[in-house]
Amino acid sequence: MKVAIIGTGYVGLPTGVGLAELGHEVVCIDREVYKIEKLQAGQVTLYEDGLDSLLQKNFKSGHIKFTTSMSEGVKGAQVVVIAVGTPPHPVTHEADMRYVYEAATELASCLHNNEYTVVANKSTVPVGTGDNVESLIAKNNPDVNFDVVSLPEFLREGYAVHDFFHPDRIVVGANTDRAREVIREMYKPLLTLNPQCTLLCVKRRSSETIKYAANSFLATKIHFINEMADFCECTGADIYEVAQGMGLDKRIGKSFLQPGPGFGGSCFPKDTMAIDFMALQNNVNLSIVRATIDGNNKRIKDMATRILEVVEHEEAEPCFGILGLAFKNGTDDCRVSPAMQILQEILHRKPKCSVRVFDPEAMENARSILQPYMARVTFCDSALEVCTGADVLAVLTEWPEFSELDLAQAAPMMRHQHIIDCRNMLSPQKALNLGFTYRGIGLGRS
Ligand code: NAD
Repeated sequence: MKVAIIGTGYVGLPTGVGLAELGHEVVCIDREVYKIEKLQAGQVTLYEDGLDSLLQKNFKSGHIKFTTSMSEGVKGAQVVVIAVGTPPHPVTHEADMRYVYEAATELASCLHNNEYTVVANKSTVPVGTGDNVESLIAKNNPDVNFDVVSLPEFLREGYAVHDFFHPDRIVVGANTDRAREVIREMYKPLLTLNPQCTLLCVKRRSSETIKYAANSFLATKIHFINEMADFCECTGADIYEVAQGMGLDKRIGKSFLQPGPGFGGSCFPKDTMAIDFMALQNNVNLSIVRATIDGNNKRIKDMATRILEVVEHEEAEPCFGILGLAFKNGTDDCRVSPAMQILQEILHRKPKCSVRVFDPEAMENARSILQPYMARVTFCDSALEVCTGADVLAVLTEWPEFSELDLAQAAPMMRHQHIIDCRNMLSPQKALNLGFTYRGIGLGRS
């Protein structure tokens, strides 16, 4: 099939590359010239495991092409996937829909009335957006023959390529049989590879809701285990033993029971806020979602306090060594990263402090976010280099290599030997034996 993808970000690019690998003819469209130029040179614009080689393979074979031109990109496409951002509105925190509606408006003028096109919305959008996109296209191009479906994306950053080829389910929200069958055809090669995968066909509004409900539930699960971790720290229990005991119950499940500094990234914070906004508009009280949002925001601040208070009485001008900047391992994405939020909180609350930072993939993205604090930030080339002159070492992202940090080498490089391990990556026993103070998450001392 001929498929066009509007938006080549963390969703659009892996989706485009994945569909090309399935044998479709894909054209990816983005308005950012620098991204398209890089992609046209066969280079990836973001870090995702396995994406680089798959992109090169399909680029060389001609299965995937890139353009900034909407009209050129959607020419002859049976499916046009919208995968543009829906960031939170800075004031109301509702989903900012301007990119979706701009894309739909431009698309309308590029569709031809003699061809049937399915416009598939992969962006996470408020319930009812499918109706709005449908009206918008019909208003701007009354003769065009099309349907709008909701096709929410469930990939995890860091595993985007894996998740594309091994989805738990594909949800299709379509109001016509014809559109549903076109999407089924597009995913046919994937469903053949994964016979256990369900293609769930639902009403368009149900599909739009599924995405928000799923993300709100997952965010709540993370917040729940984080609160349990706080409880364990006070009661002398071990959160890992507690999570294992809970997770073996099939009704609960093992995933999303890892404690940490709070959830972040470009989806959970914005999607919980967006559904909370929609609920308030409809006079519905999503009290659990609200508690999760507020609790997580407080947790980020509490983590900064944990790090700051270790050296409160020791150093007037402390130096904090920060391991990890991305919102989780396996990605260079720093959007609403707990690590970045904690770091910014520290820099804001302690104007005389300095920080040394390292992340295996996210240095470039972090650099642009940390511009206002540049004079106090040292970008290091390794985890060990972060330790030079630091008073506290804080682990904020769960990159596996951080667990290999040689603490015996790190200890004499530091001014004071304190560790705040928000990801429980380092060995508490090793740290204590070397004279560090060590505080992890949910590890009660009894
Ligand atoms: P992103 O910001 O990484 O990428 C969006 C891209 O769209 C950008 O490259 C931008 O230049 C481009 N764009 C915007 N308007 C355009 C237009 N009119 N024409 C052409 N290109 C345009 O965003 P993302 O992380 O890929 O997220 C996209 C959507 O998918 C969001 O709604 C998000 O909530 C949802 N989602 C994201 C993830 C994730 O893990 N990132 C997972 C599931 C769903």
